[in-house]
Amino acid sequence: MRLVFLGPPGGGKGTQAEILAEKRQLPAISTGQILREAAQSEILGPVVRRTIDEGNLVPDNLMIRIVEDRLRRPDCRRGFILDGFPRTVAQADELGRLLDRMGLKLDGVILLKVEEEQLVKRLAERRVCSRCGATYHLTSRPPERPGLCDRCGGALKQRDDDREEVVRERFRTYREKTLPLVDYYAARGLLHPIDGDQPIDQVARAIEEALAHLDGPSQAPDGHQGPSPREAAAGQG
Ligand code: ADP
Ligand code: ADP
Ligand code: ZN
Repeated sequence: MRLVFLGPPGGGKGTQAEILAEKRQLPAISTGQILREAAQSEILGPVVRRTIDEGNLVPDNLMIRIVEDRLRRPDCRRGFILDGFPRTVAQADELGRLLDRMGLKLDGVILLKVEEEQLVKRLAERRVCSRCGATYHLTSRPPERPGLCDRCGGALKQRDDDREEVVRERFRTYREKTLPLVDYYAARGLLHPIDGDQPIDQVARAIEEALAHLDGPSQAPDGHQGPSPREAAAGQG
């Protein structure tokens, strides 16, 4: 299964992509995480770091190269979950062309919808592991031991770009550059809008329900077919 997770900063893309990746044994590819790692490198580092910390987007041509390189790795053969890519119409066009060249198709786009007021609270209390990148929240998803990652014991920290001034800029960037992708993917019958303002496990269940229709009739033993993605998306948008 090849999926894109779309949504505003703090919408829950990373959290849900990880949950689904675990369940389906697919790689969750976070371009934000790849870039935070690239930000440590000597050559690309300073430019990438500055772009992220200003709440802007890294140039499309660099992003598509990063993603192509990643999608061509063998672990993506069974499918993948893209978290945070594409973020512009140009990136979406390029992704379409790349998949065409690889003889593949996108199965669906999960849109996580959350009000901005709620997002501000989420981002203010988001903490990430400085070692493995795992995501926590001080109240809705606290680690077992305060300040330490459950998975690897690494120190939790706040992302520099989760400071309030940067967050406002990231919302602006999202509205201007990324929101057009909602219509873009709806027009292609790929969009699955999900109410992201529910507890984490309920959002995960809603995503599973949306994807159940994608698994196709081969997995429905009684031959019952759910509504097409387009029908499922209609009336929710
Ligand atoms: P969030 O989880 O808040 O949505 P990410 O971790 O996905 O943020 O991304 C962090 C930052 O990395 C973005 O604000 C942007 O600067 C950069 N970035 C991530 N993905 C992309 C992309 N597809 N195109 C351009 N820049 C990106
Ligand atoms: P994104 O990748 O879209 O920026 P994250 O998955 O990093 O979003 O989630 C942002 C913050 O909100 C994190 O601290 C995360 O633990 C928390 N969070 C994610 N989903 C929910 C939810 N459904 N309810 C409450 N908090 C959530
Ligand atoms: Zn960790």
